[in-house]
Amino acid sequence: MQPFTYAGLPSKVIFGFGTLDQVADQIVAHGCSRALVLSTPQQIEAARALSQRLGPLSAGVFGEATMHTPVEVTARALDAVRAARADCTVALGGGSTTGLGKAIALRTDLLQIVAPTTYAGSEATPILGETKDGLKTTQRSAKILPEVIIYDVDLTLTLPVGLTVTSGMNAIAHAVEGLYTQDANPIVSLIAEEGIRALGKALPEIAQNPQDREARSDALYGAWACGVVLGSVGMALHHKLCHTLGGTFDLPHAETHTVVLPHAAAYNAAAAPEAMARAARALGVTDTPRGLFDLARSLGAPTSLQALGMREADLDRAADIAVSNPYWNPRPIERGAIRALLDDAFFGRRPAASTPSIEVVHA
Ligand code: NAD
Repeated sequence: MQPFTYAGLPSKVIFGFGTLDQVADQIVAHGCSRALVLSTPQQIEAARALSQRLGPLSAGVFGEATMHTPVEVTARALDAVRAARADCTVALGGGSTTGLGKAIALRTDLLQIVAPTTYAGSEATPILGETKDGLKTTQRSAKILPEVIIYDVDLTLTLPVGLTVTSGMNAIAHAVEGLYTQDANPIVSLIAEEGIRALGKALPEIAQNPQDREARSDALYGAWACGVVLGSVGMALHHKLCHTLGGTFDLPHAETHTVVLPHAAAYNAAAAPEAMARAARALGVTDTPRGLFDLARSLGAPTSLQALGMREADLDRAADIAVSNPYWNPRPIERGAIRALLDDAFFGRRPAASTPSIEVVHA
């Protein structure tokens, strides 16, 4: 056993069907009485319905959550918090809505209850990415970690298949990188494998039947596991690349993760053989980069940056930005190899077979 450090994250998780009913109890249990319900404009009806169900425990709805947490939106939300005299927030939505709740908590330390409706995993992390003047910066703080997560599988039944697949691949990306990160540890690696396994099995079932409650339940469970990985250990090349592409070229978050992941895995495969073997075992394939690519492609997800609207002329700049700040990665970051990776991702080429040099077997 390699030496390691491990820090557990203190949050309460309630998982099941119909668990949104427990929001009121959680507000009261934490000594609060005025919850501001947060959502995106697209999910405002669901937020209003929740607010109505909360009755006097609701202090209103703020429905302007936006991807990448722009600080202007946070400023308006803070006005709403003050005007409503809210003493906690309930974020009902995906990573964008969770991000707004986190941005409010960072500034006010208000209690956060999060009811996730995608598989992004943000609810399980003390990480916040915010955008100011078009620049996205990320920070970690104990204040950012939501205190209560209410996973209600029923909320995910409306997630369209396209977003289900890309959001699920976004979650799998946290787990794949968590397996080879510098500060990987045995417990988090077990959680990572379990998250990949649950999502790898559930996503094809949901694509077949989006109302498959058992598969939806497995996928949300997998998303939690992958979120715990993201919150517990550091990430590497894949997350840096997606951050660059999303922030600088305004590419959609989950789709970008879906396209880049097989290529980032291929870049690192030879340098992280045990992680690749564990991810392959979890996916039930022999080659992780190819397995990830094939999973996304078979479920109709985008497989090229070109399809996401990126311009080929921007690939050189993307490579420059990606290598401009040094960071840890199992394989050294080399400009030429990163440019080649981006080329493969741009055109959506299936990764070359990686040589299996290690096989992980259950004890
Ligand atoms: P999102 O929250 O932006 O949701 C995408 C769209 O789908 C929105 O319009 C939303 O209203 C809608 N939607 C969400 N759930 C739905 C449902 N069940 N039914 C119907 N429509 C639904 O997308 P996302 O991928 O969950 O989040 C992306 C954001 O989260 C990015 O800003 C990303 O940086 C952030 N993120 C942060 C972390 C972290 O740890 N800090 C982790 C992952 C993602």
